Amino acid sequence: MMPRKRALLIIIAIVAVAGVVFALFIIAGGGSPRQDATSGQKPARGEELPQQDARFGTDPDRHYLPDTAIDAQQPPNIVLEATDSPEEPLPYYSIGPNTYMLFGNIAEVDRYNRGFNGNAGFVVTAEGVVVIDSLGTPKLGRRLIATIRRVTDKPIRYLIITHNHPDHAYGAVAFRKLGGVNVVAHKGTLDYIYSERIETSAAYRRSFIPEDMADFAPVAPDTLVNGPRFSKVTLKVGDRTFDIYNVGRHHSFGDLVVHQVEDNIVWISDLAFNQRTTFMGDGNSRQAIDSQNWLLKKFANAKLMVPGHGSAQTSPFPMVKKTQSYMKRLREMMAKAVEEGIDFQDAVDRADFPEWRGTRLYELNQRSNANFVYREMEQELF
Ligand SMILES: [Zn+2]
Repeated sequence: MMPRKRALLIIIAIVAVAGVVFALFIIAGGGSPRQDATSGQKPARGEELPQQDARFGTDPDRHYLPDTAIDAQQPPNIVLEATDSPEEPLPYYSIGPNTYMLFGNIAEVDRYNRGFNGNAGFVVTAEGVVVIDSLGTPKLGRRLIATIRRVTDKPIRYLIITHNHPDHAYGAVAFRKLGGVNVVAHKGTLDYIYSERIETSAAYRRSFIPEDMADFAPVAPDTLVNGPRFSKVTLKVGDRTFDIYNVGRHHSFGDLVVHQVEDNIVWISDLAFNQRTTFMGDGNSRQAIDSQNWLLKKFANAKLMVPGHGSAQTSPFPMVKKTQSYMKRLREMMAKAVEEGIDFQDAVDRADFPEWRGTRLYELNQRSNANFVYREMEQELF
């Protein structure tokens, strides 16, 4: 690319980002309620974390909780502290009959969100509680349990981990310590917990949120979901039925989708992202695209889809098509680059979708997504 053209693109990007930030600022101040998610001293600013960029993190000076977790205009900005008690409940939302969602920040993990950058949820049945995902640290796992205790004293019967990624799985040890909780996960989760990946990723988190990562340990599931892709395991708990689908390894070592049958709510995990750009560093993008088609067809009449990141969404679930169109476009672009013999670095440099620039985590994930998909296309085409 010519230097002048590149400079022009950079200027356009800066103007676009500034515009979006200004718009969000207006939205945040324009009548939306602000609430303090936590109390206590704010951490000192100005200390940059290794490999982290403040643009993608949680703003330490702004506490914000939207009114609703369904079709929310703006995601929360919840600031947590190292000194918060593990017994302190987190903010939660009622999203259906006896169904609750914890709506995490849209950000990279950092010392202000302390791993609360993904969603989780729980359903209170007549015979106990079923939890979907465990949040990103052992301490958040304990705070999730404290949140459940605020709603009910019924026993926690199951924890379903939708996939092995830290933001969904690293709170599981708190449920293990509680005892009596059956942990359900994809069979691929076993491959992950015996891999070196878990060590590297836990060490990274310990480097800036050590208090929250104390007592971390991998949790081996009690119930494994395996079998052919799109097959299911059914849990009956009290008055509720949970169909747990194996959707292959599209985003991780193994991904699940949970259908809460009577309420017709679908917990889709990271099969689609809402209010942010997807992350493609694991799994398989071709599987992701046909799993998204399966999801839209199978659950066209669902009342609600709850993603792993971003607000829950009502029909027709635009986040699914939006995530899919991003993936398709990246695949097409990288396939063309591979076919034309364009060097890997040039291909990644050129992979820019201007209309995505205002979407959260775009600048953070675009290059690594392009990098991952280029490698995939090399494998698929040769
Ligand atoms: Zn996730």
